[in-house]
Amino acid sequence: MKSLKQKIIQDLEGSANEREMDLLDKAFEFAEKSHSEQKRISGEPFVNHPLRVALFISQMKLGINSVIASVLHDVVENCEIPLSEIKSQFNEEVYFLVNGLTNVNKIKYIACKKEDDTTEKENFRNMILAMAKDLRIILIKLADRLDNMKTLWPLETEKKRKKSLETLEILAPLAYRLGMSDIGAQLEDLAFPYAYEEEYKLTKKIIGKRSEELKNYIQELVPLVQKELKKNNLDPKKIQFRTKHLYSIWRKLQKEDMDIKRIYDLVAMRIIMPNLEECYAALGIIHQMWRPVPGRFKDYIALPKPNGYQSLHTTVFAKDGKIVEIQIRTPEMDEEAEWGIAAYWIYGSQKDDKKYKKRKKFNPPKNFYWVNQLREWQKKFYSSEEFINSLKVDFFKDRIFVLTPKGDIIDLPDGATTIDFAYQIHTDVGNQAAGAKVNGKLVSLDYKLQSGEVIEITTKKRKLPSSSWLEFVKMSETRKKIQDALKGKNSI
Ligand code: MN
Repeated sequence: MKSLKQKIIQDLEGSANEREMDLLDKAFEFAEKSHSEQKRISGEPFVNHPLRVALFISQMKLGINSVIASVLHDVVENCEIPLSEIKSQFNEEVYFLVNGLTNVNKIKYIACKKEDDTTEKENFRNMILAMAKDLRIILIKLADRLDNMKTLWPLETEKKRKKSLETLEILAPLAYRLGMSDIGAQLEDLAFPYAYEEEYKLTKKIIGKRSEELKNYIQELVPLVQKELKKNNLDPKKIQFRTKHLYSIWRKLQKEDMDIKRIYDLVAMRIIMPNLEECYAALGIIHQMWRPVPGRFKDYIALPKPNGYQSLHTTVFAKDGKIVEIQIRTPEMDEEAEWGIAAYWIYGSQKDDKKYKKRKKFNPPKNFYWVNQLREWQKKFYSSEEFINSLKVDFFKDRIFVLTPKGDIIDLPDGATTIDFAYQIHTDVGNQAAGAKVNGKLVSLDYKLQSGEVIEITTKKRKLPSSSWLEFVKMSETRKKIQDALKGKNSI
């Protein structure tokens, strides 16, 4: 059997030069040495974890520096290797990625602090994006979590539950937001049993053998569809099934009064047609074969979902009147539905690679914000290396996300100071602000905050704001509150 290292090297063959491969070797050695004393709770050598993450990233074709950074992603946090050593031993790019990952990992999410606070969760996801400043960092983070979730079983119950809630509430939605539904679904199903044990058991019980039976039934329909398409000179690339993943069945059950019979897409047939025109042609044939269920047809090709998902969905009364969902899409749409932004990378940045030359040009849907932005940037660059270098994204150019000591997230404009923060907590806290600590260290009041920092304000009773604050505060709201307080002072 091939070792993890051999698989990674194989993946990179042809896309990296000798010097880069030497650097990868060095990273392997560096990680093995740094983690040599560590074992995962399961008993396996720790270094297997970063190697698995690196293999995943190498398959995404995100460039050799991303792979090297994946190999090294835990050495700073777990082995107390200073970041400066990564800089001196490797290169600027690897240092940038490892540094970004270390920063993202520093922010701690307090799962389920406020069960229904969706803004809080959204803010947390935004904070991760804001701190990452590069999509590759997010993708390594997702790969890291995926491997952690797969190997979570030996941990104690409460730890498993917390990690799983964070996965469900923060990381899986991030994956979906980047259009990576395959990773999102995997994360959800890995987390579901630990986060909501009872609900997981109940869902399994409700589904019972239903999925299996439905799969067998749909299997019988495949030759019927094939024959009918052929009669009309249509040649599908492939016809397959997709079983709805467990966590999404659970969510749907809650909407449908726990009635499994009302979930029509438990198993769906998926028809991959060579091009757009043939997708619509196939849809016409299907509707001639079987009567569509009214109100269930959705054209996500003409109107893609916000995350860029494209496909035709229809639900029909098939053989014996049974209800079946059918999805029709092109190979490009299929790949993108599973890999999202990474699919775009594979198609987009490897254009000159022989392996990819045969593939059709990938056309991201117009309203897929991330992909669209990337495409714009790519036009400006000639080589894939330059393209990857251009992915240092400032997701929220004008916003920063900082934390209170209790872990509440405060969303501020870029350039905001400790005083702006204090007034966002409460007008009194602002007026009486006497000092500020950032990540436990004293700073001056005009200190400009950065995403991910934890801010603590000390106050003095009956203190008034200083007019000198007006010279450095960022928000007009802050300025107004200071002026109001100072006017109050004058009138005393
Ligand atoms: Mn890790």
